[in-house]
Amino acid sequence: MQESEVVHKAKYIFVTGGVMSGLGKGIVAASLAKLLQLCGLKVSCIKIDPYLNFDAGTMNPVMHGEVFVTNDGGECDMDIGTYERFLDTDLTKNHNITTAQIYGKVMELERKGGYLGQCVQIIPHITDEIKNRIRTTAKSDDLDVLVVECGGTVGDIESLPFLEAMRQMRLQYGMDKTLFIHVTLAPVLDVVGEIKTKPTQHSVQELRRIGIQPDIITVRSKVPLDASTKRKISLFANVEEKDVISSHDSTSIYTVPEILEEQGIHIAIIRKLALDTKPFRWGEWNGVLNSYKNFKNDVKIAMVGKYVKLADSYVSINHALVHSGAKLGYKTNIDFIDSELLENDNLQSLNNYDGILIPGGFGERGSKGIIAAANYARVKNIPYLGICFGFQLAVVAFARYVCNLSNASSTEIDPNTEDPVIYLLPEQSHIDNMGGTMRLGSHEIDVMPNTIANKLYGSTKIEKRHRHRYEFNQEYRNRFEKLGMIFSGVSYDGSRMEILEIPNHNFYFAVQYHAEFTSRPGKPEEAFLSFIEASIKNKNVRS
Ligand code: GLN
Repeated sequence: MQESEVVHKAKYIFVTGGVMSGLGKGIVAASLAKLLQLCGLKVSCIKIDPYLNFDAGTMNPVMHGEVFVTNDGGECDMDIGTYERFLDTDLTKNHNITTAQIYGKVMELERKGGYLGQCVQIIPHITDEIKNRIRTTAKSDDLDVLVVECGGTVGDIESLPFLEAMRQMRLQYGMDKTLFIHVTLAPVLDVVGEIKTKPTQHSVQELRRIGIQPDIITVRSKVPLDASTKRKISLFANVEEKDVISSHDSTSIYTVPEILEEQGIHIAIIRKLALDTKPFRWGEWNGVLNSYKNFKNDVKIAMVGKYVKLADSYVSINHALVHSGAKLGYKTNIDFIDSELLENDNLQSLNNYDGILIPGGFGERGSKGIIAAANYARVKNIPYLGICFGFQLAVVAFARYVCNLSNASSTEIDPNTEDPVIYLLPEQSHIDNMGGTMRLGSHEIDVMPNTIANKLYGSTKIEKRHRHRYEFNQEYRNRFEKLGMIFSGVSYDGSRMEILEIPNHNFYFAVQYHAEFTSRPGKPEEAFLSFIEASIKNKNVRS
């Protein structure tokens, strides 16, 4: 297929990474998109993941961070969540591109005869498809600026076709329609306390080797870069000194736009891309920012899960908790507790927390500790919020310890359980493929009047994002409700239970959906906000 030329006003900022991964490239991309949005431009972001998986859905969160779900059911890289939170915009799965998606499309077309007579090659066929994907998103979202972040580090084999496509776009569109920002690291050697620039120099050389000269360099470092370090990088990397931007450690990621703004990164971008902007307005973002700077006290939450070795496994939950605390003037401290280490005899350690949260999860491993924690929170009147797996295992705990169904379980944990209170969604029974086949994305929920859910959402209709294969077995509903667990949210067609609550409790609330994905700084998701409110109350009563 010949690359179809879509001429559109959008300008492109390509964000590449050097030295190593984990430098917060996604946060830099989101922050500069935010700054341009505050200049009155229509901006969005794309994340390119050069790995061979079709999407993030089949990857272990401990290896790659959480799987972020979009409204349209995309199982995406966690950077999509960062973009949504910074830009306060819902994105679609088209904003996450992987190698498998690009090659899949080209291979499909080749079989259909779309390239008859041609030898199908990385250049131009793969690179054309990459460029098509990027431009189509810019056009369909009618953007002024599209920030395209390339995952991985320059020099990786997988990212080469993507960087090549970006290089071609600069050639085609020119200097005032494309811009390259390279994110690197300047480590500080503890012994001498000196900031080292050599890794940055080398990664810029690597980028140049494939034909890309960065226009701006943002340098991650422990401390702000001093003038002489900036000068040195400028000289070796061939960028103006004022375009070497320090992206140093800060207390909250939401302060990164301010750090970049103070060094004039948006001015540099506007000038280089000749953007037509409106007066810069800190406005509402400033309110958000200030709430992350001044806390009157703190609140302590126990997060009991199975992927606790990597905090990024639960990144959206962490943010939703922090958004809620900040809204109420509190700093949220989260302790991650490995559910495999939590047995009945050490549950007392949970008394040290103001609230207990159980996040999503899969499989039998670690479920015992989660069920014990869900039960402990109920018995000890500790505020509890359960998300997805945390909803399902709160059901199991209630079945076992209140309904006297001592062998009750989820069929995910025990396929032969006597009382399958959680079982496979009916439409899942014929599914063999694991990728992209869960109940995914946004679905409408009816909220019962005069319930906690109704009070906290202030509505009888909500829409939330999902990612699950199992659900509550409604044969048990009457038994549960007679004993005090109310199902206060039901999918719009009544077929599945979405929210549970126990009215006679400080706060015992769990949701089948992933409430965390729609929480935004300054606008915390309502279930999280009420949970933190209850946890603060609990803290004040206890102290
Ligand atoms: N494993 C459960 C299910 O598939 C819960 C999923 C989750 O927590 N995201 O339904």
